[in-house]
Amino acid sequence: MKKSITRNRRIEREVKTVRAMVKIFCSAHHQSNAVPCQECLDVLRYAEKRIDFCPFLENKPTCANCTVHCFKPHYRQKVKRVMAFAGPRMSYRHPLLTFFHFLDKFRAAPTRPVRNANKDRNSNSGDRVPIKQ
Ligand SMILES: [Zn+2]
Repeated sequence: MKKSITRNRRIEREVKTVRAMVKIFCSAHHQSNAVPCQECLDVLRYAEKRIDFCPFLENKPTCANCTVHCFKPHYRQKVKRVMAFAGPRMSYRHPLLTFFHFLDKFRAAPTRPVRNANKDRNSNSGDRVPIKQ
């Protein structure tokens, strides 16, 4: 039996957003006849899979607010680059698809308030990483 995945509208929109962004990134960075190229297609497939298998399903938070980091580091890095590049270009090319909050996850890894901040306070704040804009 074939199990078909039915995406709800939000998930579908998220997938479309990622797809559009990968295309923007690819056409600007890779000289390939096909857009997206193999490499980008690979990233895209991966991202789509992660979104489809998101454990939160209908209640899926935006990835920015998600507590589960489901992307493997290798893909996470790639998706991050795609988002950073395509994000600012999305608003005019695909105004309907633009979700800025979706981007937030991929922009600078958040410096969370460290739970045991007190312990670190004396250590010259060496491990505080400034957020790059
Ligand atoms: Zn590409």
